[in-house]
Amino acid sequence: MSAAFALEAARAAGIRVRIDGDDLALEAPAPPPGEVFNLLARHKVAIVTLLRQANDGWAVEDWKEFFDKRVRISEFNGSLRDEAEATAFSWCVSEWLDRHPVRSEAGVCEFCNRSQGLLQPYLTDDSLRDPGHTWLHQECSQKWHQERRAKAVAELVTMGIAIPVKFAERIVIVDQYNFSKNEGS
Ligand SMILES: [Zn+2]
Repeated sequence: MSAAFALEAARAAGIRVRIDGDDLALEAPAPPPGEVFNLLARHKVAIVTLLRQANDGWAVEDWKEFFDKRVRISEFNGSLRDEAEATAFSWCVSEWLDRHPVRSEAGVCEFCNRSQGLLQPYLTDDSLRDPGHTWLHQECSQKWHQERRAKAVAELVTMGIAIPVKFAERIVIVDQYNFSKNEGS
C-alpha cells in the first residue's frame, strides 16, 4: 500500500485531496468511506510529499483531474474513448509548456549555446505583464521545441498519466511530416 494507491482509492470514491499546510484537506460530496479515510490518514505524510512534488503550482492530482476533465469534454463532443484520451493528453502537453516558460539570455542560442548567426526571440509564455522570450536560431528552433514537448510528455508520464496509444500514433505522423518537409526545402 502506497501513497499513490491511497490517492487512487480516494479519487475512485469521489474525494478531492488537497494540501493544507502540513495537513490534507478532503473535499467530498458525501462523508468518505471509513477504509479510504483510514488509508489517507495512514499515508498522510507521504501523500503531502507526493502532492507537493509538482513545483509549478499544480499538484499531481491537478494534472490527473485536468486530463480526466478533457477526456470527458472530448467524449461529450463525440470522440471515441481512445481519440478523447489522445486529445486530452495533447491539452496536458500544451498546458505543461505554458506553465513552464523558458526565458533565455538575449544573444545566445538556448539550443546550441552559440552566439554567432541570427537569433530570434520565441515567445514561450503568455504572461501579458512580463512576456519572456527564448532566443534561438531559426534552424535550432524545431529541435528545441521538439525536446520541450518530449520533456512535457516525460513529466506527465512521471506523474502517472500514461501516453495514450492514439497520441503516440499522432507523434509519429507529425514527425514524418516535418521530416519530409525538411527534405523538400
Ligand atoms: Zn542555435
